[in-house]
Amino acid sequence: MNGQFVVSLDFEIHWGVFDQRTVEIYKENLINVPTVIERLLEMADRYNVKLTFATVGFLFAKDKQDLLKHAPKQKPTFIDDKFSPYPLIDSIGNSEDDDPFHYAHSLIKKIRDNGNHEIGTHTFCHYYCHELGQTVEQFEEDLKAAISIASKMDIKLESIVFPRNMMDLRYEQDKPYAETFYKLGFKSFRGKEKAYIYNIFTQKFYHGWYIFKVLRMMDAYVNITGMNTYKMKALYKKGKPLNIPSSRLLRAYNPNFSFLEPLKVKRITNGMRFAAKKNEMFHLWWHPHNFGTYIDQNFKNLEIIFQEYACLNKSHNFQSETMTSLTNKMINDH
Ligand SMILES: [Zn+2]
Repeated sequence: MNGQFVVSLDFEIHWGVFDQRTVEIYKENLINVPTVIERLLEMADRYNVKLTFATVGFLFAKDKQDLLKHAPKQKPTFIDDKFSPYPLIDSIGNSEDDDPFHYAHSLIKKIRDNGNHEIGTHTFCHYYCHELGQTVEQFEEDLKAAISIASKMDIKLESIVFPRNMMDLRYEQDKPYAETFYKLGFKSFRGKEKAYIYNIFTQKFYHGWYIFKVLRMMDAYVNITGMNTYKMKALYKKGKPLNIPSSRLLRAYNPNFSFLEPLKVKRITNGMRFAAKKNEMFHLWWHPHNFGTYIDQNFKNLEIIFQEYACLNKSHNFQSETMTSLTNKMINDH
């Protein structure tokens, strides 16, 4: 099997950051998400790159009534209720027309109708599996709501990206959650990078350790943790969800360190080249709202990455895959 290039986008608009930032504070990034998605689709199609949009279920709703109709009866009972987006529903607008920060029905339709890309889930409500107070039953209800609202648009959800990447099969407490999403038909998920600084347990205590944040930031520009590419055959286990781990977060253009942007892009293209030569998988991800400011600069970086893909596709038959197309290949190969 040749090497593979997977690109996943956590498509969430304000539902991905509601517990950290208000719409007002982050408005420019959020309001430009439709423009970013259109340019993403155009550029991906130009370079034959397939994208996986891990989409928050709330965004599928046509209007508030539709959202409330699909919401599960059992909502997550987080001890710290700032992690629940449900109280916010009272204050949001009625539909995409008057509130593009909390709805994206037409944008999802556009991605679906394009036909080249996958729409997966980022859970219904941007559900935090490692936060205290919620239960696996509530998680199951959440995913069922996501499946149901997507099915109304004839979209079958088959892959999952966990909010804040809160899923690690090595941890006992995550196993019931993994069994649940697999049982509901999700065949793959995006795990964390194999390098230690990325995959320390994401409960608050460790997550906030500043030293790891600094190391991750440095690793975006210089090689600290290696390439984080994967032999997919070694990760596939029959009857289990397939972990398609992250190789790298594509960080937003940083105007304060603009002179370092070429290094950041090179770090990614080096990883892709390494994967192509070794017949391994390289998985790049980010959020569309990361591109919402300095749009042209971000797309300039992305174009270099996609050009590298096109080269590697010719020279090494490096293949662009969605999370589910890759999973299906692994299943059919066994
Ligand atoms: Zn998210």
